[in-house]
Amino acid sequence: MRLPCPYCGDRDVSEFRYGGDASRQRPAHGAGSAKEWHDYYFVFDNPKGAHTEHWQHVLGCRQWFTLNRDTARNEILGGEE
Ligand SMILES: [Zn+2]
Repeated sequence: MRLPCPYCGDRDVSEFRYGGDASRQRPAHGAGSAKEWHDYYFVFDNPKGAHTEHWQHVLGCRQWFTLNRDTARNEILGGEE
């Protein structure tokens, strides 16, 4: 699979680090219950289909970016700023 780094162009997935679900919202600093913090750090979905994700180009420009990907077909659906 190849991922489109917005700074370097298409590169092999082995150059990237997955950074997690980009649709999750971190509880505000000093707010949120223990369960909300627990769920934020330790409970993850395993979606099938369209998914918004954070990726870092660790073996390239080292920049983080957001990508929309179909997890069932490993198809890139587009990037976000
Ligand atoms: Zn890059």
